[in-house]
Amino acid sequence: MLEKMEIGEHVHEESYEIKEKIESTLCKLQELKGRVAELKQKCEELRRMESERIESTAQKMSLCDKCGHILDPDEQVVVRDSNGEERRHYHQECFQTLFK
Ligand SMILES: [Zn+2]
Repeated sequence: MLEKMEIGEHVHEESYEIKEKIESTLCKLQELKGRVAELKQKCEELRRMESERIESTAQKMSLCDKCGHILDPDEQVVVRDSNGEERRHYHQECFQTLFK
C-alpha cells in the first residue's frame, strides 16, 4: 500500500515536470515562430528592395538594341511605340546606321 502511494506521488511529480517542460518548450516554440515570421518579413523586404534595385539599375543601364552595349541615358535614342511606351534604345551612331 505504502509502496503504491510512493510510486503514485513520484509519477505525479514527474508528470508535473514533463508538463512544465512541455509548456516551456511550447513557449520557446512560440517565440521562435515569432522570430521566423519576423525574419520572413525582413527577407521579403530585402527581396523587394533587391528587385527594385535591379529594376532601377536596368532602367538606368539600358542596352543598345543594335550593338548590345550599355547605353548612356543622356545620349541614347529612344524609339517609342504608338502607346508612347519605350520599345527600343540605340546609341545615336547605331540609330543612324539603321537608316544607311
Ligand atoms: Zn549601339
